[in-house]
Amino acid sequence: MLTNAPKGTKDVLPEQVYRWHYVEKKFAEICDRYGYREIRTPVFEHTELINRGVGDTTDIVQKEMYTFNDHGGRSLTLKPEGTSPAVRAFVEHKIYAEVQPTKIYYVTPCFRYEKPQSGRLREFHQFGVEIFGTPNMMADTDVICIGHDFLEEMGIRDTVLEINSVGCPVCRANYRKALQDFLRPHYDELCDTCKDRFERNPMRILDCKSAEDQAIVKDAPEMLDYLCEDCSKAFEEVKSNLTAMGIDYVVNPRIVRGLDYYTKTAFEFVSNSIGAQGTVCGGGRYDNLCEELGGPPIPGVGFGLGIERLLMLMDANGVEIPTPEPTSVFIVTMGEEAKAKGLGILRKLHQNGISAQMDTLARNVKGQFKYAARLNAKYTIVIGEDELARGVVQFKNMDQHEQKEISFDQILDEIK
Ligand code: ATP
Ligand code: MG
Repeated sequence: MLTNAPKGTKDVLPEQVYRWHYVEKKFAEICDRYGYREIRTPVFEHTELINRGVGDTTDIVQKEMYTFNDHGGRSLTLKPEGTSPAVRAFVEHKIYAEVQPTKIYYVTPCFRYEKPQSGRLREFHQFGVEIFGTPNMMADTDVICIGHDFLEEMGIRDTVLEINSVGCPVCRANYRKALQDFLRPHYDELCDTCKDRFERNPMRILDCKSAEDQAIVKDAPEMLDYLCEDCSKAFEEVKSNLTAMGIDYVVNPRIVRGLDYYTKTAFEFVSNSIGAQGTVCGGGRYDNLCEELGGPPIPGVGFGLGIERLLMLMDANGVEIPTPEPTSVFIVTMGEEAKAKGLGILRKLHQNGISAQMDTLARNVKGQFKYAARLNAKYTIVIGEDELARGVVQFKNMDQHEQKEISFDQILDEIK
């Protein structure tokens, strides 16, 4: 127990961490290119913020939260997603008073008490982007485009962009009624969660993971047939923008965000190659969230992209992530005096930005060479008593199996 990580969490071990560095760097680069700036928000927030931001009727708030009281008696929750903390910071720091829109991105751990399985963890990580401050569909297609281009640049070829509109509170009221009328005769066949959703949030039933419920909703009425003029125009604009940008999509009327503050655009990037948890990226518009959280009525749109699922997808697509450069120099020494000299050289190399290592286990010479080979060092520097006396080192290029003698002061030039 002491030496097992908590269920649903995963260590990223040193030999794997380059994969994370790679995608993190690429994501930051692409966001930068699109004019988004990074925001970092705390790992925990007031529970009330998450309740409101994610919504009382969602699975997350109802059964997946890591909520605790701190020693001051405040109820806090480990963030299950990145949008509501970002909106909170936007309001708290009055970023809305600056030139709009506000374009931000983040990289964050998220915590949800779910049933761990492939692609589903209790602590997972997300890349996210948000645009606050514009109702224009240019913003929706801008975030979609980032998701699209990022997945493409990561070498993923098998995701499909699915889009939908979930309307607005005006048109959704009619749809909600039509959906309930359709579902009522099937009420007894619904899973327990969906029975509960029937009154509170019937649109979530469309998103249920149970096969039985999916069979029921197959012929359900579609939100798209109930859109008001404004929402309908917006959806057409999303489609025409995507066409103009050369981004392929399919309309999937089953995609819901399912909350009152989510409006209009909803979208997902879905793959078939990583099993049941195939949605790597999900997002949409939330025109009423900021106001719901006590801020001004400022619209927003964004997405969350699961990093673990992204890495799984890259593997499934056979993407080779470049491995990091091994240490450049290994210094082999014989005897105490040579060791002291070696330490001096090591320091000089480090101060000049060169990666270098020395043995720290008091290995004999043979052991040091073996270790240098293990580390894949490009060069070794060998210092014995004889070299010490003559003020030189043996300099070996391990790739070319060449060895030459150089003086102490030539070492830097030789490596450079
Ligand atoms: P799902 O339908 O798979 O449960 P979701 O709708 O709950 O996803 P979002 O809240 O939209 O997911 O989160 C955005 C992305 O974060 C998902 O598309 C997915 O890649 C990732 N994600 C969500 N939950 C988990 C989890 N428990 N473990 C790993 N990744 C996750
Ligand atoms: Mg989920």
